[in-house]
Amino acid sequence: MTEAIAVLNAGSSSLKFSVFAAVDGDLQLRLRGQLEGLFTAPKFVGKDADGVVQSEHTWPVGFQLGHEGAMAHLTAFLDAHTDGLRIKAFGHRVVHGGVEFAEPVCVDPATLKRLEAFVPLAPLHQPNNLLPIRLLLESGTKAAQVACFDTAFHRDQPLIAQMYALPHEMTAAGIRRYGFHGLSYEYIASVLAQHDERAAAGRTVVFHLGNGASMCAIHAGRSVATTMGFTAVDGLPMGTRCGSVDPGVLLYLMDQRGMDARAIEKLIYHRSGLLGMSGVSSDCRALEESDDRNAKLALDHFCYRAARELASLAATMAGLDAVVFTAGIGENSPTVRAKILEQAAWLGVALDREANRVRGFARISTAASAVSAWVIPTNEELMIARHAWRVIHA
Ligand code: ADP
Repeated sequence: MTEAIAVLNAGSSSLKFSVFAAVDGDLQLRLRGQLEGLFTAPKFVGKDADGVVQSEHTWPVGFQLGHEGAMAHLTAFLDAHTDGLRIKAFGHRVVHGGVEFAEPVCVDPATLKRLEAFVPLAPLHQPNNLLPIRLLLESGTKAAQVACFDTAFHRDQPLIAQMYALPHEMTAAGIRRYGFHGLSYEYIASVLAQHDERAAAGRTVVFHLGNGASMCAIHAGRSVATTMGFTAVDGLPMGTRCGSVDPGVLLYLMDQRGMDARAIEKLIYHRSGLLGMSGVSSDCRALEESDDRNAKLALDHFCYRAARELASLAATMAGLDAVVFTAGIGENSPTVRAKILEQAAWLGVALDREANRVRGFARISTAASAVSAWVIPTNEELMIARHAWRVIHA
């Protein structure tokens, strides 16, 4: 039997999974897939490492398949498609580890209780992330449950970077910047030396630009500052999230438009960002293809804000050696990358236009560029699998 790690990423309407086999000291992808459209139009697809579909299932529209049903379906799929593999651990993506968890952790019922205490910090994500852990613990499986946190990579940041200018008592109570997308940044930091040793040892800003978007200053492999804060709504504009906004705007909306916390939550998480600015779509590709003036404005603003943040993050490291683009937009949109980097020319980044147009080309700066620029696909699942493997073999 070959030992394997299953990785789970449970969101509000989807359950994504992958399975990695431990072969010759390496973790190799064997299966991946997802159950999406929970509660609305559930659809399961499981594929092998080459993307060949192994199993598909669609439920009728409106079928109330929730996370428990999704886990039951996934467990049956794994039982049927992991011949020759023994799943030693499940690695779970968990959005919040609070101040307490700076490392992945093997979860038992007592640890699960501690992780549930962070639900108020991430009410939209944490409960979904924890549910599969609870179900697997209750199932009596021998496999270990390892929680890997999106906040953990940022926990070592200096206090000065983590605090808000709020009364000290509030910082002590955990009202501080946590930062997210940590597993993605950690993965990029782990492979950067293969591309650029100087950058890996020096000062890099990573652009994680997907539906959720943030940036991180990484100095000698460690996170020193990031754009997201107490929640994942801060920083850059995103698909439907507004990013940083003057808190006074929210007070104004409460006073003058009678909006309560739930209405503000809807506004800043679901009705803003690229969708709100454009009125067209939250999807970067759709905006690039649109002739609408506001679609263009939305993309321009997105890139403007990213370029501003680049300078701000570079300032925290007193300089810049490299920039890295990753995630859906960062990996796939030459237009967005060019727009951002043209505004960063003064920082010493010289874009190689041809390299930037060719998909998958790792280096997109000219040989003479003082600051190197890269496109590196992220792999949060592999990062989680590596963590889970390390935790169970510690
Ligand atoms: P999530 O945060 O949900 O994981 P992804 O990392 O999958 O998001 O990124 C989704 C975003 O990537 C969408 O805005 C999508 O339009 C964008 N994207 C994907 N492919 C392209 C492309 N070829 N050109 C421009 N944008 C793209």
